[in-house]
Amino acid sequence: DLQLSSRVQAIKPSPTLAVTNKAAELRAAGHDIIGLGAGEPDFDTPDHIKNAAIEAIKTGQTKYTAVDGTPALKKAIINKFKRDNGLDYEANQILVSSGGKQSFFNLALAILNPGDEAIIPAPYWVSYPDMVLVAEGKPVVIETSAATRFKITAEQLEAAITERTRLFVINSPSNPSGMAYTLDELKALGEVLKKHPHVMVATDDMYEPILWTGQPFCNILNATPELYDRTFVLNGVSKAYSMTGWRIGYAAGPAKVIGAMKKIQSQSTSNPASISQAAAQAALDGSQDCVGEMVKAFKERHDYLVEALNTLPGVECLKGDGTFYVFPSFHQAIEAADGVSNDVELAEKLLQEAGVALVPGSAFGAPGHMRLSFATSMDILKEAVSRLQNALK
Ligand code: PLP
Repeated sequence: DLQLSSRVQAIKPSPTLAVTNKAAELRAAGHDIIGLGAGEPDFDTPDHIKNAAIEAIKTGQTKYTAVDGTPALKKAIINKFKRDNGLDYEANQILVSSGGKQSFFNLALAILNPGDEAIIPAPYWVSYPDMVLVAEGKPVVIETSAATRFKITAEQLEAAITERTRLFVINSPSNPSGMAYTLDELKALGEVLKKHPHVMVATDDMYEPILWTGQPFCNILNATPELYDRTFVLNGVSKAYSMTGWRIGYAAGPAKVIGAMKKIQSQSTSNPASISQAAAQAALDGSQDCVGEMVKAFKERHDYLVEALNTLPGVECLKGDGTFYVFPSFHQAIEAADGVSNDVELAEKLLQEAGVALVPGSAFGAPGHMRLSFATSMDILKEAVSRLQNALK
């Protein structure tokens, strides 16, 4: 009998990838499936970024690089933090990894001991709790609802912190809710964190530019600069530049922990792909017009989809602040549907009967909701809405 570690038995495969795979299987079997499960932009990677990669291949940038990233890419990241976020970092405070997922994974392994608590507001990106579990930490989930636009309050954060709390994770704009914290809301959370110096903070800014609140992007360090010595800013090029396949993410924070994360990476994957690093540098250093064009399209689709979803029976959808997801409540639709008692069963039914793939909210710690990705064309969205309309009647 082949024995598996307790570590791997504690986690589950990514449910969002599972939905995408299920949809692909049904499609391969000849079914007409609309996938609204995808966590990636539908746009092509911009040409100037691709060309930088081609140039990197041609000029022999095809060997190992420094584990923590090429000096040129790290410089581009430092400049980006200065330019866009007003944050100052030295090169030894930056680690480039194979995607934002690896950045968080390295962080969890670098700071958590068995039983250490990591506070994760729900709805959360599906991977945080499982990565904490791999590190043998304990995810402590704070629940929210549409009433607070899926954001936690300072009181909730205060109540969740214990002596064992090692990390607080915040993701704004959020996958899956699409909501962003305001500067004042972040300040209120920052005030709580100031009182608990043993708590480190991870701000996951992966969706930074995909925002339409009319206010500039801000993270918890902008709100509470006093947290600089224990905050990690996680970001990457996957979503902003439609570069999910290139696998480049980066982290910035206190040199001691960044160094520990680098040590872990040096014994697992080493450097991220050299060619992808050249492409990421071009993305960060180049014109940002391509980002604006994508965001404009996302906003149009968002506006359409929110309005359309609110016309469906049993579905309620808040307007989001950014990202390419909406996270409507299907509570009433679940009650009304035959033979269905929860969001997972309803998602299954909608996939089988309407040919629409959505991700059930329980995957994100918020049962009764569904995550719909609008990283797909307007025509496809319209067809999806009409199928859902029929199925929910
Ligand atoms: N953080 C959030 C909130 C995400 O939604 C994702 C991707 O889905 C990531 C991080 C990781 O992105 P990647 O590893 O593809 O760079």
